[in-house]
Amino acid sequence: MSSFLGFLAGFGVTDALDIAIVSVLLYLAWSWFRRTKAAFVAIGILILTGIYILARILNLVLTAYIFQGFFAVFLIAIIVIFQEELRHFFERLAVVSLGGRRAPLMVETEELVQTLGELAQERNGALIVLRGRDPIDRHITEGYELDGKISKALLKSIFDPHSEGHDGAVVIGEKRLERFGAYLPLGKDLAQNARLGTRHAAALGLSELTDALCLVVSEERGLISIAKNGELAEVKDLGALRTEVEHFLLEKTPKSSEKPVWARNLREKAGAILLSFGLWFHFVHSSKASLRDYDVPIALHNIPPALSLEAVEPPAVRATLAGPQRNLYLYDAGNLKVHLDLSRAETGELEMILTREFFNLPEGLVLVRTDPPAVKVRLSRKSP
Ligand code: ATP
Ligand code: MG
Repeated sequence: MSSFLGFLAGFGVTDALDIAIVSVLLYLAWSWFRRTKAAFVAIGILILTGIYILARILNLVLTAYIFQGFFAVFLIAIIVIFQEELRHFFERLAVVSLGGRRAPLMVETEELVQTLGELAQERNGALIVLRGRDPIDRHITEGYELDGKISKALLKSIFDPHSEGHDGAVVIGEKRLERFGAYLPLGKDLAQNARLGTRHAAALGLSELTDALCLVVSEERGLISIAKNGELAEVKDLGALRTEVEHFLLEKTPKSSEKPVWARNLREKAGAILLSFGLWFHFVHSSKASLRDYDVPIALHNIPPALSLEAVEPPAVRATLAGPQRNLYLYDAGNLKVHLDLSRAETGELEMILTREFFNLPEGLVLVRTDPPAVKVRLSRKSP
């Protein structure tokens, strides 16, 4: 109980801030790993960290040494491999922290579906991008800006193969047609790109990098496909297309019934707080140096057979030990004693100044002082 109160007394505002920041970082890392499907990386990092900690605990000097050197290289490798995901992560962070919610996408689904249907029937190739929540401008090049109301007439004019701007993609954001003739990045999977043709590869490419929905009409086959979250699929008919588009718009439109940001993923947030508290406890709190007092009994050894003990003054002393809190918490002081060796004692009063050598102290704890600083022992000769 007293150690709990002592713990509370030592807990300051900076500690709370420390834990709060680490909790946020842990939570962000968790949501990033989840979003980027890079869970295997997280597992890899955990395994390596586990090995490292084990190596430190078991004192595997060479292993720990190599790991330490390896960590910097490892960090750089992660940054290089995941630069796209990291950029994406920071973009999202910016979007969320700048108030986050974009105006709802308000696209006339029916108008869009009918237009795509007609384009497919007439075998006019088309590529239409519906923005999600991620910024996409960074990935798009070329094209012409336009701030136009979406209509079948406008879309069909753009994708008319005789028109100058029919090549490339149309970008729809919020409720306007923002851009046409735009070029999108091709997908990462080169083998698949070769099989698909560039229009489809471009749709797939943008959907790999952002949460946009890309609708493609194939000029060659007169079929409509949808690329979403890095996957391309043909739609059976216009009904399926309508369902997909409606579903997407619903998903990307902030709903008033939607939980506010702070109320989502509460379990994971609690987990992050708990974990960072545990880390803080282990690395910060437990390693803070601290003092603690113990009542330590005096144990006398090797009293010469000819002498008898008259008195020990006092029978126990109060010893103050110092060390990391972790060691003090874990220390079982039950068998801590002052050991006095009397093999060379003679009759009369003997005063011994207590130093560290008289205590059986474990490693990691030191003796600061004792009260009183010395013990008096009185011996007398046994009467024959
Ligand atoms: P389709 O089935 O319509 O033939 P496809 O996937 O086979 O499509 P291609 O035949 O290579 O693709 O189609 C070329 C057209 O794709 C170009 O004329 C251009 O309009 C469009 N396109 C090519 N590259 C891009 C790009 N990076 N971004 C947007 N559109 C592109
Ligand atoms: Mg083609």
